[in-house]
Amino acid sequence: MTKTPTTLRVVIPRPLYQAYDYDCPDLPLPELGCRVRVPLGPHSLVGIIIERGFTSDFDKLRPIESVLDSSPLFDDSLLELLQWASVYYHHPIGEVLFAALPKRLRKGLPLLQNFVWHLCCDDIEEAKQQNKRAKRQLELLEQLAQHSLTEAQLTSLHLGKWRSPMKALAAKGLVRRELVIPEIKSGSVEHPNQKLITLSDEQENCMSQLSEWLAAEDFKPTLLHGITGSGKTEIYLRAIKAVLLQGKQALLMIPEIGLTPQLFQRFCDFFPSQTVVALHSGLNDLQRAQNWQSANTGEADVVVGTRSSIFCGFHNLGMIIIDEEHDGSFKQQEGFHYHARDLAVKRASQLNIPIILGSATPALETLLNAQRKRYHYLLLNQRPGTRQRPKTKLIDTRDQTLEAGVSRKLLAEIDHHIRDQNQVMLFLNRRGFAPVLLCSKCGWHATCPACDSEMTFHAARHKVICHHCDYQKTVGASCPSCHHPQLSTQGHGTERVENLLCAHFPDTTVVRIDRDTTSRKGELDKKLSLVRSGEPVILIGTQMLTKGHDFPKLTLVGILDIDQALFSADYRAQEQLAQQIVQVSGRAGRGDKTGLVVLQTSQPEHPMLNQLLAQGYRAVAQQFLTERQAWNYPPFGHQALIRANAPQFEIGLAFLQALKNDLKIALEESQSDIRLMGPMPSPLEKRANRYRYQLLISATRRSSLHCFLDQLISRIRTVKKPKELRYTLDVDPTNFM
Ligand code: ADP
Ligand code: ZN
Ligand code: ZN
Repeated sequence: MTKTPTTLRVVIPRPLYQAYDYDCPDLPLPELGCRVRVPLGPHSLVGIIIERGFTSDFDKLRPIESVLDSSPLFDDSLLELLQWASVYYHHPIGEVLFAALPKRLRKGLPLLQNFVWHLCCDDIEEAKQQNKRAKRQLELLEQLAQHSLTEAQLTSLHLGKWRSPMKALAAKGLVRRELVIPEIKSGSVEHPNQKLITLSDEQENCMSQLSEWLAAEDFKPTLLHGITGSGKTEIYLRAIKAVLLQGKQALLMIPEIGLTPQLFQRFCDFFPSQTVVALHSGLNDLQRAQNWQSANTGEADVVVGTRSSIFCGFHNLGMIIIDEEHDGSFKQQEGFHYHARDLAVKRASQLNIPIILGSATPALETLLNAQRKRYHYLLLNQRPGTRQRPKTKLIDTRDQTLEAGVSRKLLAEIDHHIRDQNQVMLFLNRRGFAPVLLCSKCGWHATCPACDSEMTFHAARHKVICHHCDYQKTVGASCPSCHHPQLSTQGHGTERVENLLCAHFPDTTVVRIDRDTTSRKGELDKKLSLVRSGEPVILIGTQMLTKGHDFPKLTLVGILDIDQALFSADYRAQEQLAQQIVQVSGRAGRGDKTGLVVLQTSQPEHPMLNQLLAQGYRAVAQQFLTERQAWNYPPFGHQALIRANAPQFEIGLAFLQALKNDLKIALEESQSDIRLMGPMPSPLEKRANRYRYQLLISATRRSSLHCFLDQLISRIRTVKKPKELRYTLDVDPTNFM
């Protein structure tokens, strides 16, 4: 064993639990969190340094090839968080660290240099005159005339579409750029020129309580439970302002499709002299890298981001806020199965900074934490001003004729609200025309050849599409099996309801919002701005409509087809349904007129539904918690799920069975509180030509679950695995499909 102070321990982007040791021939040693290029076998890979100057157990270390960064991409606390996550989720450190980086940096590209653009012409009016026909160039000139802008600011203002017009202006000698040297924050927050909203008494009380807690030294998250439309965003803005005044940065995390341009604008307007940047999947690699970097250098003051922004590096993070903290999109469902909310709480606790979890329908986990006094609890129970909560009405579909799943009574309500010049929204969580296409003569129906599932009929495209694997097939008018000239459908999706609405209300604009109608860039914004224009429209859409939207003219919300979820075998389905009903209902009556919510169901006596309408979400959540406790389900007990799949059904099943047999002996000996259930087929057993099985692990204590998972992982690493086998471990699973 040689003692060498020039060692580096490097994590490489492979599904490996360990890091590799290298030698660094040139001093000084690069810092922790910097990238290096290292050899591995015949390959050359990008790696991240997690330790340096230690004594390696290996004699001959290969030298690194090069150092890629002069300053770290991860500071110590972020490295610590990521290493903690790798241990908690039992996921290979290589994949965890690299999941945290934007793609450009993963590939080893250098950090972007940060430039600021200045105007450099004497006569701005003349320059504008010259360029009056080039709309984007003109816009840039006008903005630069007010003040110089960094590339990060330009990217967030223009969503990246500024580079070519700026180049054109530079070619004409009207603008120039200069390298930015990162500066220390001044901590002054300029206020918007426009009038600020005056907080309601309830909001004021909430704010003063919050300020007291935020000033406290000891770490304790805050649950802000505010009914829909109660003005939570106004609280976020003011809480963030307090952080910026200390010269620190803030992270606001939002659900996957929750970042509407309006929400982003609200932040930009509130902080006109600060840099607000977005981080979400709608950005290209360059924008993402730029925004990520501007948070890392401290240039960005506020980051508004989705799930993965929890891994963003910050110069001086002072607060984390999670909006709609109950939302399922904070859980990553592939590869590295982390929960961004849980990691956010961990990160805030590490940094000892405040964290606020906001929702109208808090997750049971979060409510329990509040009940156990681990979290502070704040309630906003009113809508500001004269706005009322919407009224709710159940329609029993058993005594109604339905057209495309819509009852006469609901059609009459729609008619009524549209005549009053209001807007209407119908919610149906199923896209396409109909979930089943069949032949009434021979019984043929369209099933996916690769999955165990029906294919959904999409009428306008003359196709059946599998919503699990996206397999598509064009269908004709006649039965492919017996050539009967007519095919029928069963059930209904948003496309069918749209057709019905168009037929019934020929003079009213019908706007359908689902994945099919909004897949092209800009389409969703176009549809939303149509709704925001305020003219009477009928909206029909899927869960994309539930999040965050604020349409003041919307007075009627209709919720179709909830019966399936009422009887789902998944113990989380009812919780999600209750949250969805409350969230969708919350879109109604946000303007001056009181809203109405109509729920269609064939189960009007269903206890959960009745309790929700009579007593509200809190009561229903309490009931769920009581049930979960009786069954020792999360958040009381703890779970992990191993999934295995392969093209042949025996493989996944045999793998899980062998694991179970292996570990059962250890369990019997240690009399532990671990329970194994399965292996059993996943609810969707065959998907994309792979057979899927799962083994559920439950434990009363978190610590014994983790002990067990350690054993399990070391078993998995040593057993022989067939090439075709794929498996994942999901700690705290939320989805059992
Ligand atoms: P939430 O996030 O709780 O659903 P928002 O913060 O989006 O609610 O507020 C809902 C609407 O009420 C927004 O249009 C917002 O501008 C408005 N609002 C919030 N607080 C006030 C207030 N104190 N006075 C007047 N309007 C308010
Ligand atoms: Zn047929
Ligand atoms: Zn399929």
